Amino acid sequence: MKILVAVKRVVDPNVQVRAKADESGVDTANVKMSMNPFDEIAVEEAVRLKEAGHADEVVAVTCGGRASEETLRAAMAIGADRGLLIQCAAPPEPLAVAKLLRAVCEREAPQLVLLGKQAIDDDANQTGQMLAALSGWPQATFAAKLALTGGRATVSREVDGGTETVSVALPAVVTADLRLNEPRYVTLPGIMKAKKKPIATLDASELGVDVSPRLKLLRVSELPARAPGIRVPDVDTLIERLKHEAKVI
Ligand code: AMP
Repeated sequence: MKILVAVKRVVDPNVQVRAKADESGVDTANVKMSMNPFDEIAVEEAVRLKEAGHADEVVAVTCGGRASEETLRAAMAIGADRGLLIQCAAPPEPLAVAKLLRAVCEREAPQLVLLGKQAIDDDANQTGQMLAALSGWPQATFAAKLALTGGRATVSREVDGGTETVSVALPAVVTADLRLNEPRYVTLPGIMKAKKKPIATLDASELGVDVSPRLKLLRVSELPARAPGIRVPDVDTLIERLKHEAKVI
């Protein structure tokens, strides 16, 4: 069976994100970009499933500009077999990505689509759910454990107060949570091998999907600077100040 993994190029999680001076968006000029961390977990899981004999092929797919090829190479360095770049002029919104992935699923017929639970740039947490809805496929989101048996996926999800285990029939959409696995350290031979793996490029319009934005971004602004903390001499003063200044007790 084939596994499709959706990977997104985002600002590296270790970078301090800055808004552009005119507040028209996030400043990505000369900023280190990486694969969305939850997508790295999704790729790792797909590769482990292949290594365990549950899948024959892992295909990484990304929607974005030419630079997103780098993200596909990173997925292939983990172990994905090939990459698919769906070129879009502007970064597509979750609904557009879900529609593009739906069109890719029609062509590729995967049995399992793995995504990150959310992209750390838009924090939307929407794409996997929308893809499942558009496809009429079951979804198991926030996966902390995944097992494939007899045409079904059994997924454990961490929910308030415990772990919920669900079983879904394949084909299905599964989104990866933090504890699903710890992605492997990518080796130099892995990176070299990835350079030779194929990447196919398609234009979003070839998939018949309208990727024009439905949201209007009004402003991206920096958080207000935090006021410095104060040191109080004793507990009595602390309680006094919490009562009468902060008015929180
Ligand atoms: P979001 O709904 O934007 O929080 O993203 C959830 C997941 O959808 C991500 O972790 C990716 O797996 C996938 N995804 C979102 N945007 C893209 C994109 N432009 N290309 C490929 N996959 C994406």
